[in-house]
Amino acid sequence: PEATTPTPVSTVSRYACQRRTTTKNNNKIFTDAFEVLAESHEFNDMEGPCLAFRRAASVLKSLPWTVQNLRVTEDLPCLGEHTMCVIKEILQHGRSFEVEKILSNERYQILKVIPRSKWAVSKAEAQALGNIIDEAVRAITPDAVLTLTGGFRRGKDFGHDVDFIVTTPQLGKEERLLTSVIDRLKQQGILLYCEYQASTFDESKLPNHRFEAMDHFAKCFLILRLEDSQVEGGLQTAEENRRSWRAVRVDLVSPPVDRYAFTLLGWSGSRQFERDLRRFARMERRMLLDNHALYDKTKKEFLAATTEKDIFTHLGLEYIEPWQRNA
Ligand code: ATP
Ligand code: MN
Ligand code: MN
Repeated sequence: PEATTPTPVSTVSRYACQRRTTTKNNNKIFTDAFEVLAESHEFNDMEGPCLAFRRAASVLKSLPWTVQNLRVTEDLPCLGEHTMCVIKEILQHGRSFEVEKILSNERYQILKVIPRSKWAVSKAEAQALGNIIDEAVRAITPDAVLTLTGGFRRGKDFGHDVDFIVTTPQLGKEERLLTSVIDRLKQQGILLYCEYQASTFDESKLPNHRFEAMDHFAKCFLILRLEDSQVEGGLQTAEENRRSWRAVRVDLVSPPVDRYAFTLLGWSGSRQFERDLRRFARMERRMLLDNHALYDKTKKEFLAATTEKDIFTHLGLEYIEPWQRNA
């Protein structure tokens, strides 16, 4: 039977503060699916889509009736193409195959079962982790270089993960490095989870100035078990923090050494800083910047860099220190 919609759809505001949302959720089947999708994007560090699903769920939670056909959703605010597809799937099949695929995904399952209190990494913990990985890297190639990047390089006290760049002075040797590090961490029994991506880097390609685009270097996403005894300064005192170990998310990226400066600049963040750096390069300098390279569209040539300062100079920008990039 065709559903009646007591609340005119067109009056639903795009602002939650102009909607009345009780605990009675008439659209749980949809909002549960959106929550899984939001979480999955969160676990993959994709804030944009994560937020979009949470917004969409919030709109559906405010409706005093159940969505029973797609037509009605067309006039609701905050529902994008992707959310519509999920609603369509659920209306047709009673479930979403995309959501079911996520629920059976190993990375999702692991991140889901480790309680949140075990995340959030402190500076001291990042330091301890750096020592562990440094030792692993050095055992493989003594001349390997490990650099802390991401939020901790910008001087943050806490992070949702720890980001490192690993490379070696010998071009081409860097890719094997990562798999060796993974093997070693596995042997040490501290590797809880690992997702490795081999390099797909093609140096003839023009930089992809879009910030959200992934880079193509060899990288891995790890979850490591860090014992409190390994951390300088030891335990925190708060009752809810009582635990003997932490599950720490680690990103390792391994660029060829001649791309090191671009990777360091790209992975140091913040995301907003990176976004604007690329936008500035494109809009103000007719240059394309990404984690691999800088390309001058006017001169039609790649601009080499061995340090971050070189890149700022190419862009005609004053150098900005990592701790001044918390945009
Ligand atoms: P937090 O302290 O919460 O971890 P963060 O700034 O370190 O904050 P991350 O998500 O760890 O945030 O990312 C670190 C930086 O690395 C980002 O600012 C982004 O510029 C870059 N980055 C992360 N993942 C990728 C990727 N797949 N491809 C390209 N750059 C990335
Ligand atoms: Mn980080
Ligand atoms: Mn990261």
